Amino acid sequence: LKIVDVIIVGAGPAGSALAALLARDGYDVLLLEKGRFPRDKVCGDLVSSKGLKFLADLGCYDEIARREFVPIRSSSVHLDGRVLSRGTLPVLPNHPPFGHAVPRIELDEIVFREAVASGARVLEECTVLGFEAGDAGVAVDGAIRGRRFRFFGRLVVGADGASSAIARCAGLEVRDARYVQLAMRAYCDGLPLEHAVLSFDEEFFPGYAWIFPISRTRANVGVGMVKESVRKDGIRLRRFYDRLVDFLRRQAAEHGVKVEISPPAGWPIKTYGGARRNYFERGLLIGEAGCFVDPLSGEGIPLAFETAAMAAETIRAAFAAGELGAAALAGYEQLWRRRYDADLGLSDLVVSLIRNRQFAKVWIRWLRVMGMTAVRDGEYATQVGGVLAGLVPNREVLSPSVLVKSLAHGPLFWMEAFDVSATKPLPDLLKRGAEMAQWERAVAASISRDPSWFGEWALEIGVKQLDVLRKTFLGR
Ligand SMILES: Cc1cc2nc3c(=O)[nH]c(=O)nc-3n(C[C@H](O)[C@H](O)[C@H](O)COP(=O)(O)OP(=O)(O)OC[C@H]3O[C@@H](n4cnc5c(N)ncnc54)[C@H](O)[C@@H]3O)c2cc1C
Repeated sequence: LKIVDVIIVGAGPAGSALAALLARDGYDVLLLEKGRFPRDKVCGDLVSSKGLKFLADLGCYDEIARREFVPIRSSSVHLDGRVLSRGTLPVLPNHPPFGHAVPRIELDEIVFREAVASGARVLEECTVLGFEAGDAGVAVDGAIRGRRFRFFGRLVVGADGASSAIARCAGLEVRDARYVQLAMRAYCDGLPLEHAVLSFDEEFFPGYAWIFPISRTRANVGVGMVKESVRKDGIRLRRFYDRLVDFLRRQAAEHGVKVEISPPAGWPIKTYGGARRNYFERGLLIGEAGCFVDPLSGEGIPLAFETAAMAAETIRAAFAAGELGAAALAGYEQLWRRRYDADLGLSDLVVSLIRNRQFAKVWIRWLRVMGMTAVRDGEYATQVGGVLAGLVPNREVLSPSVLVKSLAHGPLFWMEAFDVSATKPLPDLLKRGAEMAQWERAVAASISRDPSWFGEWALEIGVKQLDVLRKTFLGR
């Protein structure tokens, strides 16, 4: 009976990176993957400079550079089809000065091949069904083309993504619709573009749309939305996607080109608000299986790599101590909480706020104020763009300097922000006043229709706000 040191379930970026790291240290690693490479994974494909840095450290960057993806150095934010702001993305020290959109059918195979080259043993087309932990180790059950197999290891790591069988089996599965986003993705050929586009639309807020250029004429395009809004507010993701397609066709017409768009594919995203302890008796969850995705930017690839590195550190320490039970693995939770809690807690708070569509008009107006400020202040644009791209710590949007810059404008700015004409302000002011009164009545009516949802939401915001303030300013 062969017992390996670590069984890793899922060969996405998280699982393959961990397999490479541990195999290089001499651990006996078995990587089980239900697909066969090359295989696709529905994603925006954007690998920020943080992700590229990790790939370089792992030894995978040369292969990516060889494929000549467009270097993404700037981004624009659109609101209701119009450009709100444009800006360059921040450059982090010792990181490549750009990101790339790398189709997952290519990226995942590159990292997987690195795991194999590092000495990990791999089994493709093996669907893991569950595991049992005992005193001597773990037994992992899988099926290969209908036949059941049992694999034995000292530890198991769930790197099996949004619908993780290992999380489910460990009792750590997250189904809360507040922490799940639903997304659709397609590939668009023909539109020349070299910067990332993020787009919002009042009708579908808090949904977001993206266009990430892969090559000079091919882009990954898609839309995402919090599942709770899809359910509670009846927002149709498909209609939002159709709006994005209209936008792409209009852009193509402006460039005098024709675009071809592949059929869209859908997939859920599990975000950080749902992250639980992520360790259990003889095992850990990494990457999206552990909800390690920034709720605001939807970025999960760098977090998949980072949590793989944290898991490797925890596993090395546990083997060195000769203790592999849950208590010996608890250090993993400390590592990721220290790294993410303040920042991704803030992202989660922002998404919790904007999830309340009763206030969508307020959030949209605030987005507009930020966009207008960004147009006037390049440094501000880089900072805010960096937060949306996951490159700048989210707490920087809470910094007094950003707040002051957002608010310190003259009357003409505010008139423009509220669509009030500078020459004939009175009719517009009266119109805005009437709109405000109508909106207040609508909010009051909607609260009285569903007071318990509103009460729970207000409580959630209060608790999360205190938590973020404590973690940001007291560091715990
Ligand atoms: C539409 C969309 C857009 C996104 N855009 C971006 C983006 O632009 N940039 C970014 O950084 N992040 C983005 N993300 C998030 C990103 O895709 C994930 O966070 C990332 O893939 C997580 O990597 P992972 O290795 O943890 O999991 P995954 O990439 O999901 O890999 C899990 C692996 O486990 C395998 N598996 C699953 N179940 C089993 C099983 N039972 N047995 C064996 N194998 C199994 C799967 O086949 C897969 O290979 C997006 C997500 C979505 C859905």
